[in-house]
Amino acid sequence: MGKFFTPSLILCLCLYLYLPLLLIPAPLCARERPVRILLYSVYKPASITFEPAKGNAFINDILLKAPTTIEAGNSLVKIKGRPPRKLARINAGSKGVWLYGGANPRRLYTGLIEITAEKNTLKIINTLSLDRYLASVVSAEAGNLSLAEAYKAQAVAARTYTIKNMRNHAGAGYNLCDSTHCQLFTGFAAIKPKAQAAADFTRNEVVTCKGKLISTFYHAVCGGRTEAIGFVWPSGHKPYLVSVKDGPEGKPYCAIAPAFNWKTRMSLKTLNRIAKALKWIKPEEEIRKMTVSERGISKRAVTIEFAAADRKVRVPATDFYHGIGRRAGWNAVRSTLFDVYSGKDYIILEGKGSGHGVGMCQWGAEGMARKGFNYRDILLHYYPGTRITYD
Ligand SMILES: [Zn+2]
Ligand SMILES: [Zn+2]
Repeated sequence: MGKFFTPSLILCLCLYLYLPLLLIPAPLCARERPVRILLYSVYKPASITFEPAKGNAFINDILLKAPTTIEAGNSLVKIKGRPPRKLARINAGSKGVWLYGGANPRRLYTGLIEITAEKNTLKIINTLSLDRYLASVVSAEAGNLSLAEAYKAQAVAARTYTIKNMRNHAGAGYNLCDSTHCQLFTGFAAIKPKAQAAADFTRNEVVTCKGKLISTFYHAVCGGRTEAIGFVWPSGHKPYLVSVKDGPEGKPYCAIAPAFNWKTRMSLKTLNRIAKALKWIKPEEEIRKMTVSERGISKRAVTIEFAAADRKVRVPATDFYHGIGRRAGWNAVRSTLFDVYSGKDYIILEGKGSGHGVGMCQWGAEGMARKGFNYRDILLHYYPGTRITYD
């Protein structure tokens, strides 16, 4: 026995037994990257109430039993019945705490919540794991999508965006804010299990081009073909944000979207009111007719032309889309992929798709998933020339 198990054989056996463990690729190892998100970033509250959800939550290491309000007092935070202090720490655990107060909606958050005060308003920073954060973001962004592969594609896109933008607010002590300035994050009250599963399944996966994280633009419905970014935002050229045909001729992947085709009738009165408010025309001018004077690869309008009494006014179609959206609602003109018909005192826009049309088409991702494509096929279809790598 002793002769048989020589030191070198024992070493070989050890290597044989343990090497497979050592060779497990790093991405498979659980790694909880934390993110720090500023909550209620748009309307910073002067006071906020915390209410424990189903599990145990702690405030400065004391069990949070009942709804507790925290107020800002200059640069200190005040918890009722306790002396003011610089920082309040809420450990919300995995079940979370409800936050509400003032004009802010009631939301459920998990993880660590740190509250400080600045100029009589509260600065509320939530620290949680990246994948937990992504589950919330994807729940909000994926809307009515249903298939797991579409959720996974959305999770990888959101992770890529998040890691690329981790330094957005580095100077202020957090990574991203919770508004659309960075990425909408509304907590866990409406979390979708599919979104959490997608974030977990794709852990550490990101989309890169030439070794760098890409800008993962996406939109709801492309209408048949995505658009090269230069036709939508002229200064934003990216080699992977090109125009992609979304599926076979006449049968785009996103044709399954509930509002693939749309039609809007708008009075010239409304159009003129908006055009004057946005200074597209002078107060004394009146638009008589609207046409599309330039189109992109996907046939989206790039430039709109308004015929006023004695001159023609050109407006970038992206400005038109955003301008009408903000003033008449985002359902009025859902995309820039439309034809215009001018009547005596109205215009009719007949269009396809929804959103800016750049990058991944979310309903196209759902359509591809229905046809059996996986999330990697989906991402590489909408972001050509890129790779899925591990962060
Ligand atoms: Zn931000
Ligand atoms: Zn599409």
